[in-house]
Amino acid sequence: MNTEGLLAQRMIRLKSSAIRELLKHSKMENVISLAGGIPSDALFDFEGLSQATQLAITEQPKNAFQYGLTEGSHTLRERITGLCAERGIVTRPEDIVVTAGSQQALDLVMRALVNPGDVFVVESPTYLAALQTLELAEAKLLTVRSDRDGMIVDDLAELLKTQIIKGVYLVPTFGNPSGVSLSRARREQLVTLAAEHRFLIIEDDPYGELRFTDERNPTLFELATALNGHTDNVIYTSTFSKILAPGLRLGWVIMPSWLLHKVASIKQAADLHASSLSQVVAEYYLGLGRLPAQIETIRAAYKHKCEVLASLLEQELGDQVTFEMPKGGMFLWAKFRQPRNTAEWLQETLKQGVVFVPGEYFFAAEPDHSTFRLSFATATEQQMQEAVARLKRAL
Ligand code: PMP
Repeated sequence: MNTEGLLAQRMIRLKSSAIRELLKHSKMENVISLAGGIPSDALFDFEGLSQATQLAITEQPKNAFQYGLTEGSHTLRERITGLCAERGIVTRPEDIVVTAGSQQALDLVMRALVNPGDVFVVESPTYLAALQTLELAEAKLLTVRSDRDGMIVDDLAELLKTQIIKGVYLVPTFGNPSGVSLSRARREQLVTLAAEHRFLIIEDDPYGELRFTDERNPTLFELATALNGHTDNVIYTSTFSKILAPGLRLGWVIMPSWLLHKVASIKQAADLHASSLSQVVAEYYLGLGRLPAQIETIRAAYKHKCEVLASLLEQELGDQVTFEMPKGGMFLWAKFRQPRNTAEWLQETLKQGVVFVPGEYFFAAEPDHSTFRLSFATATEQQMQEAVARLKRAL
């Protein structure tokens, strides 16, 4: 059958996730992957998850297996307000929608906000799957460069002199893929600009808790409250994926009320609500009080792995690549000193049995082909040693 014209126009713009394709290679035998943005399952708190699951199905079987509220279980949303308070975010259960991961939050929010052609600004580089949600919603994307202090907000201010924008999407803390965080001064500048120019801030914060030092930057949400006296234009999303387990598919989004009810309606159309079983498990898990220790475990392990990978890179490839030392998160973003196409290099590294993500996929506009992203979350120290040796051989 001739299927031409059957697909919606907007699907033509949608790129398939290059990372998903790469992950297929990483499943191959003898291939070491530094590609996936997946947390280390060696660190999952299976004991706590198992206890919480037992409790969920014995103590609350009806809630765990019945349909629930579109916005998410009230108890879980109450617990989430507690987690948020520890991050400096003052919120109420009724300001929160529980979603199937923060990925769904991004999709729903973009669908509720973006008219075709609305201008959204993203960092360069930025999170690939957020670009997909913006592209699906038919936003017009403009980019602002990032440096070691995150998005260069002066460039955004310059852009605002000639351009009306609807919103800015960013990962201000331990970004994916850059690993960098927006400085305090730039956070304040961004939040002030957003109020002045009446644009939205979509703050995507999956990695904020994974910090390797005591330094903690306030969230944009917290700063908006402090500096603007309101968060009417701020949307904050986070997730249990990196601190507990991504398979639960649980995230949340905090929104102003003018938006929340619309997002809840779209969620109803999409999937009615997040998994009841996952939500009850998460409620019990949080009730067990194990999360703070679990986050400490992850922080310490990732910090160590990050140091190992960074020193291997420095040692073996330091004359050819540069990178910023991440202060948290899961990624190390590197760049060749001399121009080199890392997508082509990947073909060589695959032959050696190691996979990473070429940086070009993370750019909404002109890509920097010399960049690449390495994840230090999943590989063991021994694997990282071998992986870096293989990367070197592939040069
Ligand atoms: N935002 C960013 C920046 C991410 O890196 C990820 C996961 N890789 C997500 C959102 C989505 O995560 P989840 O849906 O598992 O919460």
